[in-house]
Amino acid sequence: MNQACPFDLGAALAERQRQHRYRQRLNTAAPAGRETVIDGRRYLNFCSNDYLGLANHPEVIAALQAAAAELGVGSGASHLVCGHSHYHHALEEQLAKATGQARALLFSTGFMANLGAIGALLGKGDAVFQDRLNHASLIDAGLASGARFRRYLHNDAGSLEAQLAKADARRKLVVTDGVFSMDGDTAPLAALCDVAERHGAWVMVDDAHGFGVLGPQGAGTAAAQGVAGRVQVHMGTLGKGLGTFGAFIAGSEALIETLIQFARPYIYTTAMPPALAAATLQSLAIMRAESWRRDKLHQLISQFRHGAQAQGFALMDSATPIQPLLIGDDAAALRLSNALKQQGVLVSAIRPPTVPEGTARLRVTLSAAHQPEDVARLLAALGDAPGDTPD
Ligand code: PMP
Repeated sequence: MNQACPFDLGAALAERQRQHRYRQRLNTAAPAGRETVIDGRRYLNFCSNDYLGLANHPEVIAALQAAAAELGVGSGASHLVCGHSHYHHALEEQLAKATGQARALLFSTGFMANLGAIGALLGKGDAVFQDRLNHASLIDAGLASGARFRRYLHNDAGSLEAQLAKADARRKLVVTDGVFSMDGDTAPLAALCDVAERHGAWVMVDDAHGFGVLGPQGAGTAAAQGVAGRVQVHMGTLGKGLGTFGAFIAGSEALIETLIQFARPYIYTTAMPPALAAATLQSLAIMRAESWRRDKLHQLISQFRHGAQAQGFALMDSATPIQPLLIGDDAAALRLSNALKQQGVLVSAIRPPTVPEGTARLRVTLSAAHQPEDVARLLAALGDAPGDTPD
């Protein structure tokens, strides 16, 4: 009877603590934009994905309130039963327009959109080809689909080509993040499309971090690179650049009908609250019209990169609001994050298994809600942080 209990959960938790990888939540008491409040103390916030500063926009809040007063809070049912309101419908039409696609379909979250799309398109006998650094939801969707799962080297069209050349499959789907969530770099979509087209494969881009931020009127990474018409499956989220919640897939008429018929995370879940769709309609209109938000963001990015580089920090190859500082050691990244927190600046330390071993980092995210003085304060705090700053 000395056998270890298979449900000894404490051992795995203790091991995670020992590795300095224990995940903890902050209990915030203020909106997610420029500043936040934790335990009564105010912090400058450099960890939210509210890239355009729309999460607290008064017109977005008013749209949410008005639609909740009109239609209530919950949608009451799944889209295919009676949960699909005129706000959902109008938002889908506007998302199709914003991405230049024939149609779009709302999902309750980005994780579900990825599970739904990949699961509806692929099964046994098919193959999926994913960048090594793709988001966890894409990896899980690929594994759950039953298709053969292949990973290619990060942003390496040659490595993808070698994998595709070896593959004998019915459908082949190449899947990549548009903007990589932990590195901030963008996928070389034209090169990936070239390879995919040579091998009869489709391309899916998860543009959670690019939609709203990159391209003309925020149309996203594929539009920014002039390849929107060569990508068959466009995924975008609403909880980052648009500042609300939820996600969508955009593409051809046949793709969207296929998802409505076969995407289980679409069919078997409650539709997002209609008021959220109404709020997102408002934030989408602002996102498209107000290009000054993108311009300002890019000025802040450039200010941060110049300042961090001058201090000797290891920046990554990113021109997006995700600006990681590579630290390497898990404990050192955590110490730096804690030192910044003591100075009233919130930046999260990202450690394995979220990123590869030996690449722990501080993940700075910038927002159009920030001011140049805020970035200057972040840079000063980095300069003042003791211990693990570079020589
Ligand atoms: N894809 C990527 C690249 C992401 O970063 C995220 C969110 N972290 C998701 C998908 C999931 O989106 P959601 O938060 O809406 O589930």
